[in-house]
Amino acid sequence: MSDPRRRLPSVESLLANDVFEGLLEEYPRTRVVAAIRGEIDDVRTSLSQSGMDGGDLETVSGWVDRVSARLAREDVPSLRRVINATGVVLHTNLGRAPLAAAAVRAMAAASGYANLEYDLGEGVRGSRYDHCVDLLRERTGAADALVVNNCAAALLLALNTVAAGRGVVVSRGELVEIGGGFRVPEIMERSGARLIEVGSTNRTRAQDYRAALATGGPAALLKVHRSNFRISGFTEDVAIGELAALAAEFGVPLIHDLGSGLMDDPGALGLPDEPRPSTSLRDGSDLVVVSGDKLLGGPQAGLLLGSEEHIAALRGNPMCRALRVDKVTLAGLEATLRLYRDPATARSAIPTLRMLSIPLDKLEERARSLAAALEPAGPCHVAEGVSAVGGGTYPGVELPSWTVRIPVRRAGALLERLRRGDPPVVARVEDGEVVLDMRTIAPAEVEEVVRRVSSALSQPDESAPDESALSEADESDVSESDES
Ligand SMILES: *Cc1c(COP(=O)(O)O)cnc(C)c1O
Repeated sequence: MSDPRRRLPSVESLLANDVFEGLLEEYPRTRVVAAIRGEIDDVRTSLSQSGMDGGDLETVSGWVDRVSARLAREDVPSLRRVINATGVVLHTNLGRAPLAAAAVRAMAAASGYANLEYDLGEGVRGSRYDHCVDLLRERTGAADALVVNNCAAALLLALNTVAAGRGVVVSRGELVEIGGGFRVPEIMERSGARLIEVGSTNRTRAQDYRAALATGGPAALLKVHRSNFRISGFTEDVAIGELAALAAEFGVPLIHDLGSGLMDDPGALGLPDEPRPSTSLRDGSDLVVVSGDKLLGGPQAGLLLGSEEHIAALRGNPMCRALRVDKVTLAGLEATLRLYRDPATARSAIPTLRMLSIPLDKLEERARSLAAALEPAGPCHVAEGVSAVGGGTYPGVELPSWTVRIPVRRAGALLERLRRGDPPVVARVEDGEVVLDMRTIAPAEVEEVVRRVSSALSQPDESAPDESALSEADESDVSESDES
């Protein structure tokens, strides 16, 4: 048999065919040409690798279908909206905090020209760092504030500014890894500060800090919130108030890396108590460092809160320029912070807070109506479940929730189909059933979920990969492997 590769058509011969006219009307010629070339190359490669006989290589309509599918694939964005049916509210792999509508509007408005660094009153140059300061002061009681790219950047900047070339005292119980490459000892090293470990993994006492400070070397005290894990049993810890007194006694600043950025009263959200920027500052922290996109519910950002003197030093550090926040983020953060002026508004308008505080009976009602809508497509049932706050916050806290469960022969295959469709639906498998947690599915998304699940259930199983090969990957998909 002759080499099938010799039967591959040329780009010109395909383009000259009338059946390509439709594609040429829909797409620019350069893209169609590139797609034809790409398809021919792909087929040539697979022919040489597989030794296939090339089958229906010569049908032009086959080539049109291939090229058209390729062009459509090229137009699917890499980063796109997904429906989060996992019940993990701050899902790090799914972009953490979904933004409030007011934040999205503000971000769109600021995306053209904006008074980012322009004082509209005076008609002179202004500073981008002025924009969220008043709202952050109001919300946290800080004298001044600075916004940078994320919390990791904020901590890096704080350590570099306060302690480059000098030591920083940290408890051995707080040398944490928050995930995605954020490890306190490594950030410390890159900041140019030297780590001075005190205490032990489970117990650190005031005396341990005092002994380290008494050597005269340290430039700062750092306390790191154990965001994503808990230690229990024989433990001891020094509270912010006591650390602040020690820091003051030795004339060094106390930096508190808090992470979560909770601005609301956790009790009102049905959550256990958790340190907040306002409580940390009240108890005596000199600089508090938090994330914008965890419990605060805003865009990715790092907030530094503290005295005018410390914030001025941070702004003056050339490293600040490398970590600077962009106008769209600032606009979204400002709009989110503005919603906090009225706690009830914040809880209804900020999706993170809204999802955390949905009453259980509402979740049950939504589960029942989703199940009823899915019924025609296949068997499913409603059951209680457990969702998580996520985002490396509130470790071990289980939020009771309601779920819709779909028993299928191959749960992993259904999970994959849900993930690969449009919009992708990310769910989880429990006890061999596909589980949809109502906490993170917005009411406006329910119709899409019904459409996606119904269509996934109606597809034949044959093409789906083997269950055993899938189950592992599926679990890692929804377990927030990059927890932070
Ligand atoms: C999440 C977290 C960080 C990192 O925050 P990013 O905004 O992801 O950079 C740092 N410190 C603590 C304590 C955290 O919880």
